[in-house]
Amino acid sequence: MKMEGELTVLKKNLTEWRFNQYPKYILLPIDENNDQICSNIKNVVFSEVTPCPLERNIQLVCVSEDALISILDMDPDIANREEFAEFIAGRKLPYGALPVAHRYGGHQYGMWVGQLGDGRAHILGEYINRLGERWQLQLKGSGLTPYSRMHDGRAVLRSALREMIACEACHFLGIPTVRAAGLVVSDEAVVRDVYFTGNPGRERAAILLRLAECWFRFGSLEILARTGELAVLRQLADFIIKEHFPDIQLSDENRFIRLFSEVAHRTLDLVAKWQGFGFTHGLLNTDNMSILGITLDYGPFGFVDSYDGGFVANCSDGEGRYSLAKQPDVVVWNVGQLANALKPLLTSSQQVHMAHILKTLDTYCKNKILETFLLKIGLKEEKWGDEQLIEKLLDMMQKTGADFTATFRQLAELEPNEMVNETKLNEKWSLKRLSSHASWGCWLDQYRERLDKEAVDASTVGVFEDERRRRMLNVNPAYVPRNWLLQEAVNDAEKNDFRKARFLLDVMRLPYDVQPEAEARGFASQPPQWAYALKISCST
Ligand code: AMP
Ligand code: MG
Repeated sequence: MKMEGELTVLKKNLTEWRFNQYPKYILLPIDENNDQICSNIKNVVFSEVTPCPLERNIQLVCVSEDALISILDMDPDIANREEFAEFIAGRKLPYGALPVAHRYGGHQYGMWVGQLGDGRAHILGEYINRLGERWQLQLKGSGLTPYSRMHDGRAVLRSALREMIACEACHFLGIPTVRAAGLVVSDEAVVRDVYFTGNPGRERAAILLRLAECWFRFGSLEILARTGELAVLRQLADFIIKEHFPDIQLSDENRFIRLFSEVAHRTLDLVAKWQGFGFTHGLLNTDNMSILGITLDYGPFGFVDSYDGGFVANCSDGEGRYSLAKQPDVVVWNVGQLANALKPLLTSSQQVHMAHILKTLDTYCKNKILETFLLKIGLKEEKWGDEQLIEKLLDMMQKTGADFTATFRQLAELEPNEMVNETKLNEKWSLKRLSSHASWGCWLDQYRERLDKEAVDASTVGVFEDERRRRMLNVNPAYVPRNWLLQEAVNDAEKNDFRKARFLLDVMRLPYDVQPEAEARGFASQPPQWAYALKISCST
């Protein structure tokens, strides 16, 4: 949103807009021998490498006006200029750019797989905006890098569009995340075997412009620890502290423990958010875990429709390692890998301290999730029996196939005594479904009793009921980017019709506000039958 008096500072073209300082990452070891394939490279954090532009028929699919204005100080009209699409397509590097690909490793599906790195992404440089915030711009899908391994360096429209919308939607929902500023597609063909059935097809290549304070992952430190590059490990850990964790002193001998504790807790706060929105990341490998505790690398993600803790967004995850309900455990496991990566920097007594912190994380995460769900049902502080109340609700949702997002929203839209009224329930499709459970009446009695206790603490029941609903409407969105909505946007975008994509992006700017056009298009209605059978590939 344009802030008053600030319109004049917004840049209208890419001659005015430029990287306004050397990127801080220039202080880290960068390999300049950029045509080398870096399978055995050591002691570098980045490789200098220029993007390989998309060439044929570049089209701008969509932009995030908010990211342009509030992060990049750009006038959204800049997006109407040809040079803007060329910029995202990698054809026009802004003044002051220093394009690099980042070297990192990772555990995938629980196994250490060694070096990975940015195989199709280029960090272009750092921009300091009018608020003094430092943002790194990154192109994803921008061609081969020394870390591309056997892959082609490209991203397809299907997954890049999903990522674009998810980044921005999560931001507006209140989930800490990488941001996305704009997306282009070309006629350049790439080959993907979407469902790994041995039938590869041609898809169009796209590039996404992503924004983050930095792009370090757990795997950034893991690779250095695993290969014994301890001087660089220390250098990178200190750099991360200095640039991104200003509350930790570089002179503090316990700084790495503090860094670990801060990243661990931020990451678990993030998981609690995900659980509260039924968001399933789908590919929680340690190379996809941001050191900042923000959501990173959206691929086969999904917001659950009918609630099911076993929901697996990624059709390649046969064992359900990354199912919705398992996310907290798997993220705690990932945090354990971060601990292992930092261990070489710790004294033995500090290692004992770290082990103690690790032991507390399960409980911390569980409590955070409980807090999240209490707020979702309109309660501020935990009282005896609340955990069971929530467990029972989720259990009824799972058994009846009630919708996750809509159930919580609709619990905020009716008064508790209306929730047994057939006529009222008929207006609320998901609550209606939930109310078919034999224990619904009993649960509702308990909920009402619990709300009464809260109301006594507040003042009067009537006032409290208004407040309860207001609070719940602010934490339970009307809209999330459901897979079927994304799929429809993708289907049209593949035919060069970007209107649904842009509309969905627009609706998700205010996910807690009822919007007539979104209602008319069924964004808050029961998803169509085909939505429940959708499978999301990790072939991106
Ligand atoms: P992801 O599963 O998307 O998080 O990617 C895992 C690793 O594979 C990262 O190192 C990516 O850069 C790399 N990768 C994935 N797809 C491609 C591609 N098409 N070209 C090059 N590298 C890729
Ligand atoms: Mg990744």
